[in-house]
Amino acid sequence: MSSTEPSAKPPMPVPDELTQFFWDGVARHELCIQRCQTCGHYIHYPKTICRFCQSRDLAGERVSGKATLYSWTIATQPFHPFWVDKIPYTLATVELVEQPRLMFMSQVIDCPEEELEGGLPLEVAFVEMSSELTLPLFRPARG
Ligand SMILES: [Zn+2]
Repeated sequence: MSSTEPSAKPPMPVPDELTQFFWDGVARHELCIQRCQTCGHYIHYPKTICRFCQSRDLAGERVSGKATLYSWTIATQPFHPFWVDKIPYTLATVELVEQPRLMFMSQVIDCPEEELEGGLPLEVAFVEMSSELTLPLFRPARG
């Protein structure tokens, strides 16, 4: 076995002009998704032009954090030393309720593997992965 490094630092996001709003939202524990101010469609991942109407008037807006499970896989191999002591975990594509096919890549937490099923109602949870990194993950919706 290779050595584990549970104290390894996580790979950090590098916000840019397009994604700064998203990480600013995460810092406030708000899930923010780019929305076209002309036609109202949400767009993820962020783009410079709306793919629905070609408008450049795009802005980050807070969404509900509610979603349903669309697809998932159980990650059993760490891709970075930070994840060595965190496997297995559930990598998932979730569909945000704001718009059909508004997909978001994340993880599902607090859910046994046998309870994972397509359409499972989820809610966002902001999880402090380290002192430097908080990520929006999803868990089964309560209530
Ligand atoms: Zn648009």
